[in-house]
Order: sequence, then C-alpha cells, then structure tokens
Amino acid sequence: MATFDYQFFVIGGGSGGVRAARIAAGFGARVAIAEEYRYGGTCVIRGCVPKKLLVQASHFSEDFADAEGFGWTLPSAQFSWEKLIAGKNTEISRLSEVYESNLGRSGVTVLHGTARLLDAHTVEASGKRFSAEFILIATGGRPFLPSIPGIEHAITSNEVFELAQLPKRVLIVGGGYIAVEFSGIFNGLGSEVTLAYRGEQILRGFDDDVRAHLHDEMSKKDIHFMLRRDVTNIDRRTDGALDVMFNGSVGNQDDKGHTFDAVLYATGRIPNVGGLGLENIGIHLEPDGGIAVDEFGCTNIPNIYAAGDVTNRIALTPVAIREGAAIASTLFGPTRTPVDLAIVPSAVFSQPPIGTVGLSESEALERHQEIDIYRADFRPLRHTLSGRNERTLVKLVVDTASQRVLGAHMVGADAPEIIQGLAIALRMGATKADFDATVAVHPTAAEEFVTLREKSTRCNPQKKG
Ligand code: FAD
Repeated sequence: MATFDYQFFVIGGGSGGVRAARIAAGFGARVAIAEEYRYGGTCVIRGCVPKKLLVQASHFSEDFADAEGFGWTLPSAQFSWEKLIAGKNTEISRLSEVYESNLGRSGVTVLHGTARLLDAHTVEASGKRFSAEFILIATGGRPFLPSIPGIEHAITSNEVFELAQLPKRVLIVGGGYIAVEFSGIFNGLGSEVTLAYRGEQILRGFDDDVRAHLHDEMSKKDIHFMLRRDVTNIDRRTDGALDVMFNGSVGNQDDKGHTFDAVLYATGRIPNVGGLGLENIGIHLEPDGGIAVDEFGCTNIPNIYAAGDVTNRIALTPVAIREGAAIASTLFGPTRTPVDLAIVPSAVFSQPPIGTVGLSESEALERHQEIDIYRADFRPLRHTLSGRNERTLVKLVVDTASQRVLGAHMVGADAPEIIQGLAIALRMGATKADFDATVAVHPTAAEEFVTLREKSTRCNPQKKG
C-alpha cells in the first residue's frame, strides 16, 4: 500500500478548507493545509466579518438622528474612516490568528504559500512537493470585472476595505447583495451613493416584493438608482476624480455621464480555479467555471474533493463550512455525509436588512399548482417616535394544498436574526396552522409571522390537470 506524506491535503485556508482540515484531524487523519494569503479566507479578511462591522458603523448616523424623537439631544457627531478601518483591521488580524492557531492546535500542518496539483496525489506548495491520499480544493472565488476601458480605475470588494479615505461620491456597479450592502454602508457614513445596475430591479433571485420594498427604502435614504444602465467607460481626471459614462435608454442627456471619487464593482464572483493545475489531471468544470462535484463533494477524480465557492453553488460561508465538514466526515469519519442544500436561509445586510428562507413567490408558483400569499407591510414601533418613514415587510408563501410554508421573507430591522429561527420551522415542514398556533412575542416585528391573516391566492394554470 502506498504511503503518503499526508492523508488529507487541503488547498485554501478559508471557511470550507479550515473546517474540513480541523474535522479531519479530529478524526485522527494526518492533515496539511496551504493558504496563499491570510488564514480565515474571504469571509474573515474581506467578506462577511469586515462588511458587517462596516454596516454596524454606518447605521449609527440613523441611530443618532432617531434618538432625538426619544428625547435625546446629541452634539453633532464626527466620524473617522481611519479609526473605523484601524479597528476593523485589528479585529480581522485577531480572527485570522485564531483560525491559524486553532489549526495548529488541532494537529494540522499549516503552510503558507500558493499550492497547485502536479498529479492526482501530488501537491506543490511553499516550494516543496507533498504526496496526499486525498486532496480538497477549497480555493474560494474572486470578484469578476468586465473588460471596459478604464476598468483599472475601479475597485472591488477586495480593495474597498482598505480605502485610504471615505469617498465623497461613490458609484456602485451591480445589483446583487454585495452592491446593495455597500450602498447602505457608504450612504450611512455620509457619501453620496449611486447604484448602477443593468437589470430591471436589484437582487435578482430574491422574492419580488422583497426586491421592490428594499428598492423603495434605499431610495428614501437618497441612494440614487440607475437601473437598466451599464458603465461603458471610466476616465481618471488630473484631480483624481473618475468620469464615468453609461449606456442605456433611460434618462436625459445629463444622465449619460457622472463624476465620482470611487467606483466599486460588485458584478459577481467567479471560482478560483486558475493556476491550480486542474487541466493536467482532467478535473471537470461546470459551464459556469465551478468545479463539478457530486453530493459528497467528490470531483470526477475519486480522491480529489472540492468545497465552497470554488464549486459555484451557494456561495455562503455556512454552506462552505457544511461542505468542508461533510467531506472530512465522509473520508475519515464513521459515515458518508452528503450536504443537504434544500433550505438554506440567508441574509442581506442592507439597510434595512433582509432575511429570507425557502421559495420566493415566483419560485413557488413555478413548482406548485396553487399558493397562498400572506404579507404585512407596516411602520415598526420604533419609528412612531423616531419619525423615520421606514417600513417593514414580512411575507409567507404557503402551498395551498398541503398548507406547508414554502418561504418566509422579511425586510426590516433584525430580519437576519429572526429568519434563523424560522428556517428551523421550514426545515421541519411547518404548516401555516403551526405558525398560527404559535404564541406571539409582543411587541416585536417578528410576531407578525404568527399573526398573518389576510391571504391572496395565486394559481399556476400550467400545473392544473
Ligand atoms: P474562501 O473563504 O474564499 O477561502 C479560499 C481561500 O483559498 C482564500 O483564503 C484564498 O486566499 C485561498 N487560495 C486560493 N487559491 C489558493 C492556492 N492556489 N493555494 C493556496 N491558497 C489559495 N457569506 C455569508 O455567509 N454571509 C455574508 O454576510 C457574506 N458576506 C460577504 C461579503 C463579501 C464582500 C464577500 C466577497 C463575500 C461574502 N460572503 C458572505 C461569502 C463568503 O465570504 C464565502 O462564501 C466564503 O468565504 C466561502 O468560503 P470558501 O472556503 O469557499 O472560500
């Protein structure tokens, strides 16, 4: 029997890779991991964690304003971008060290450097070659940038966390969750924000009511939307500002060009597969560029697995973590463990935030003959005194025949916290009657989910028969 330097070699020290390495080591496997940048990966270094800290920082401007209605008088608030970024940097350095030291404590050999595959059992990393029985590719993804003239003047989510100063005028290109989150961050911190997106409405794939509600709320905060518009050209002026040209049929002549201090592209992410040597060993990719895997995360090469964003399925940290853990358990644990991605809750840390789980109304209508829709759109208690004109949306999508709740959606304060609990109910197959039978917590916004009474019913004629 061949002997290997390691039983398990993990490429990429992000959410999926770190979890897989630690779980495998916990099962007694000899494990090594290689990371080319900083341990913790996208989520810790330039994703979820720093993003949420910036969201929290940016919300204070509204909190200060809202406080007046509750009797507070505050001196005018001052904000320091430098102080915020320094605090954020300290926290992510601390977290990155925790990730790395936890790996070491779990008995994993921790390597620094870019890794690539030489053959199905050989990895080159840090200038050395290592043989491994099993290999996990967990190299994540990176921002996609279109090739238009002047794109080199734009930044992505990789650079935005390190900007030297807060830009006064920001253009955000894209309509996905990262674009709307950064629109809220810069708006809350005092920048003038324009969001340009070539589609009809932000947040493609989310429930249409959610998309429209957030669009309205963001507009109320003076975020300027340019929908059905795309950037054609970016020019840097001698004073450093950026002149941006747009195409699209909407608007008058003045709307075709604008000047900004920063242009942030959030136009999607692509799997990190380049330079890994995948072509040398014939690893199959999906048409979208993600590594093709089966339900156990195995590629077409039986000893090579892939997890997380590099597979381009559901690009979220908890999903990458689940996949990494399941692969380690399949290879070294007592049971083969597939990952069930049927009901994955998610949040958008927009302002106000979104929490969502299960099917949108249109997805439910495609799959079911008849659905019941329950929705409430209301002014939350806090804003009766703050005077802010912000509204909360809660919505349930229910299968008429079985009365099973297919989807739960919310736009409003604490929606990401609230949706986590509802996800458990949906996974357990809760019906509308189960929601109705649950006693409310009062006074909360979440109680609306158990007091929804008014319904509208929608039919899919193609499903009749
Ligand atoms: P990653 O965490 O990206 O880790 C991959 C690692 O591999 C990286 O550290 C990289 O440096 C390393 N690497 C790449 N190639 C090599 C190589 N050849 N050799 C060695 N190392 C290599 N998800 C959420 O759930 N909630 C959120 O709120 C959220 N917010 C986000 C905000 C932003 C701005 C971004 C960009 C992402 C956000 N995400 C969020 C998504 C989340 O960060 C990813 O889904 C998650 O990090 C994926 O984990 P992963 O292990 O697949 O990849």
